[in-house]
Amino acid sequence: MLKFKCTFRNNGVSEGTFLRWWAKSGSLKNRLTRIKKMDETLPPLFTFGVIADIQYADIEDGFNYHHTRKRYYRNSLRLLRRANEKWKGEAVKPSFIIQLGDVIDGYNKKYNASETALKTVVNELDKSAIEVHHVWGNHEFYNFSRDELMISALNSRTTNDTTSTMSEDTTALEDTVESGNVSDTEESYAYHFSPAPHFRVAVLDAYDLSLIGRKEPSVRYYEALEIIQAHNNNDDLNHPPVFDGTERRFVKFNGGFSKCQLDWLDRLLTLSDEKLEKVVVVSHLPVHPYSTDPICLAWNYERVLSILHSHKCVVCFMAGHDHDGGYYRDASGVHHLTFEGVIETPPESDAFGTVYVYEDRMALRGNGRVADRVLLYP
Ligand SMILES: [Zn+2]
Repeated sequence: MLKFKCTFRNNGVSEGTFLRWWAKSGSLKNRLTRIKKMDETLPPLFTFGVIADIQYADIEDGFNYHHTRKRYYRNSLRLLRRANEKWKGEAVKPSFIIQLGDVIDGYNKKYNASETALKTVVNELDKSAIEVHHVWGNHEFYNFSRDELMISALNSRTTNDTTSTMSEDTTALEDTVESGNVSDTEESYAYHFSPAPHFRVAVLDAYDLSLIGRKEPSVRYYEALEIIQAHNNNDDLNHPPVFDGTERRFVKFNGGFSKCQLDWLDRLLTLSDEKLEKVVVVSHLPVHPYSTDPICLAWNYERVLSILHSHKCVVCFMAGHDHDGGYYRDASGVHHLTFEGVIETPPESDAFGTVYVYEDRMALRGNGRVADRVLLYP
């Protein structure tokens, strides 16, 4: 059953007043029944599936970097298949699936198996015949260059008719940076789409500013180098600079968002505010320190948070990367969901969810390690 949590956050009604109204309007039991009925009988406006960190590779099980978590490289494909079966059998078939990044593991590169592994997971996803929106994570860049990704099956921006870069609504996402006589145009993999009237999804590129998602002589590569060197003196930049706190995020396997992309997001959310839309923002890297181990945070997460908080339309921010998952509803009412990774999910469990979208809320129905949650609108 879905969890229902009633909060009194920022609504200007005291708990006492609310309870008095509650008592007048019917017994607690009746009210709860109505809530339950509403959850289980009213059809959603639409639904969508979410899955994170599949990291498939045709290799034996292994462990994470610190040898604290087992990784089930082949089983991850079986769990993807199980998620697909569930989505295909849903009474309301999901309108789309969000794949939150790291769809195949970096080990594939070592075994020259990147293309084969990608084909395997894409074939599996295709079986559902449901549109998939792919987010790019660090493992995408361990396997492929940005140019390769742009023309691969993982570029869902170009394969979906319903998607658009911001260029159609406001200005182009492409950033032209003048550097002496050199004009450097750097494209981000960020786009948005509207799955239903008054709803929008924004897909962000968390490696827009990074050492793995950009290559020399990219201006953004040098900008990323400057950022990481200001915080991390280690020879191995995948090793965090400190043992504790949010400074640990300054590692090579993370990245951030360029100013251009953040300006684009700000403009997009301004338009969504005007259109009274509800927006879901997705990225491989989480942006709230309470929704993840801080080592997984995007470098400039504070900037993203300040943009999210300056708009009324944002319902939730969904991310992957931290395989343990996490959840936090911040003071502005934005739900931060970090999805548990398929790769560290044992064969007897699962890690995926289906989001049911209603007029007044979204309800996440989790499977296995992913918990059920009601996401009331801010
Ligand atoms: Zn990752």
